[in-house]
Amino acid sequence: MSVDSVFRTRSLGVAAVGLPDQYADGKAAKVWQLYIGDTRKRTEEYKTWIMGLLKRHNVHSILDVACGTGVDSIMLVEEGFKMVSVDASDKMLKYALKERWDRRKEPAFDQWVIEEANWLTLKDDVQKPGSGFDAVICLGNSFAHLPDFKGDQSDQKLALHNIASMVKPGGILIIDHRNYDYILKTGNAPQGKNIYYQSDLKQDIATSVLWVNNKPHMITLDYTLELLEEGHTEVQTSKFRLSYYPHRVENFKELLKDAFAGKCEQECYGDFKAYTPGQAHTPCYFIHVLKRTA
Ligand code: SAH
Repeated sequence: MSVDSVFRTRSLGVAAVGLPDQYADGKAAKVWQLYIGDTRKRTEEYKTWIMGLLKRHNVHSILDVACGTGVDSIMLVEEGFKMVSVDASDKMLKYALKERWDRRKEPAFDQWVIEEANWLTLKDDVQKPGSGFDAVICLGNSFAHLPDFKGDQSDQKLALHNIASMVKPGGILIIDHRNYDYILKTGNAPQGKNIYYQSDLKQDIATSVLWVNNKPHMITLDYTLELLEEGHTEVQTSKFRLSYYPHRVENFKELLKDAFAGKCEQECYGDFKAYTPGQAHTPCYFIHVLKRTA
């Protein structure tokens, strides 16, 4: 990974841009599947951890609010959970819908609910069962896709409030983000094994940080992958760009606590292992687990 450029600017005329679906042209969605690598290999990394957690909390119904192409949801449908999977991007959902169609003869897949929904309008887009889902998941660094156009984190607060409202009392939310504290400090993502991306494809990710009013506002990752696509004999270079809001772990804990109006128990893991601030191993990802207490 390399730091390509660091932009510093005082103000941004972004209000007019609206909320883009970064996957809208279908390019990133297509490459995403390849980038994740073997999907089973990916979910193996944290399947035991997540299964243990879901079992401990007696979870049966799960809402995946950022299912993307369906990688986590498929694993959970296979494991017998009652899944509702949503995403704002129809281009990403297309892959999940195809999997459901291909496996429709399996009762668990026949009952799998897949819908288009946006976190900002989640309460209108998703029908909450009774007092809520036993668990809500938002994994794969998804939440960081939501920008902060107003500069006061109000959209992020609204989205987290909506997401938390789907968790029933006694239920849990599992939500993650990259270790942006480290990226902002060093300009690079932490080295070491990436728990989410298992692809063997030759790849490079260039990192750029956009500063607004002396605050890091957006991190752009330019992914370059070398692919051998169907029907081609030569390796193609594929590029796509995704931008993220760089959540800092302590600030994100506060946002989450507020989303539950303080009525929650909170835990934070590093790469699906116990995490203590200042520990020797630098995690690539932080995973927050919140239990609604009322
Ligand atoms: N969890 C999947 C997808 C990760 S990609 C995985 O790990 O592979 C992030 C996903 O978040 C994308 O599919 C994108 O469409 C979705 N997303 C981004 N902003 C969203 C929003 N405001 N509402 C709902 N989904 C959103």
